[in-house]
Amino acid sequence: LVSVEMLAVGKELLIGRTVNTNANWLGRRMALMGGMLERVTTVDDELDVISSAAREALARYPDFVIVVGGLGPTPDDMTLKGIAMGTGRKLKTDPKALEMVRRHYADSGRRVPLTKERRKMAVLPAGSSPLPNPVGTAPGVRLESGASVIFCLPGVPSEMKAIFRGSAEQEIAVSMGRLHRAQARLKILGVFESALAPVIARVKAKYPDTYVKSHPRGREEGESRIELDVAAVSADRDEAVSVAAAVAREMGLGVERLGGRVASWRGAGGHRG
Ligand code: ATP
Ligand code: MG
Repeated sequence: LVSVEMLAVGKELLIGRTVNTNANWLGRRMALMGGMLERVTTVDDELDVISSAAREALARYPDFVIVVGGLGPTPDDMTLKGIAMGTGRKLKTDPKALEMVRRHYADSGRRVPLTKERRKMAVLPAGSSPLPNPVGTAPGVRLESGASVIFCLPGVPSEMKAIFRGSAEQEIAVSMGRLHRAQARLKILGVFESALAPVIARVKAKYPDTYVKSHPRGREEGESRIELDVAAVSADRDEAVSVAAAVAREMGLGVERLGGRVASWRGAGGHRG
């Protein structure tokens, strides 16, 4: 059985100023997904308290720890520092996270300088990945510690929900065995990533619940080389495989139309090259 716990961070929750509606939402969500939120711990905004609560949670070897609150720009938001301490990592500015923060302010239309406080939201425990925040500023964070996956989400309920839905739910559902994931990796030669981008956009629009990501890999014998990861999830294993294969096939056709070729294809629906 998949074990999930929540670590809620924030004095406002302890002194009764804010009701922990995030715990309620997460508990209901887990139950709807066929699992159970096994434990909710609430702690104060204190570094040593956050880090020890994280260590205690990890000592129970849960599959997932959902940490909520304290990702913002102010000094009382110290969750990521506490999680870094609790997992024995350094803090590092993450370039992708910084770009997310920068873009958020750029999209606001006003000229907002990237001050120290704003940059802080991109300072993450080493080895973690930022998760896009479609409705706010601070990115969420995903990191692994031992066999556990830790998600850190902002406390603002709309942001917590949006990042959870966008970046955590599927992984949890897959590990619950409620969803199957099929993936393929294509090696593509002879097209630039910039030329491939509209093809990816078109295929993603046609298959909205799939993952398509290109990784430029320099050149091979004078030709531009790209690795393309494709994945699909479904409650039905065969369906996941066939959707991933269809996406890979369409990407291959798009590549050929651009004058390039698929040099190898591994996973869903193919093993060649
Ligand atoms: P921000 O960037 O807004 O500072 P944050 O990640 O730092 O976000 P907090 O500062 O902990 O989050 O909380 C922001 C707001 O969300 C506060 O109004 C707080 O009361 C509310 N909030 C925090 N945690 C919860 C929770 N568990 N349930 C409901 N509301 C919460
Ligand atoms: Mg805050």
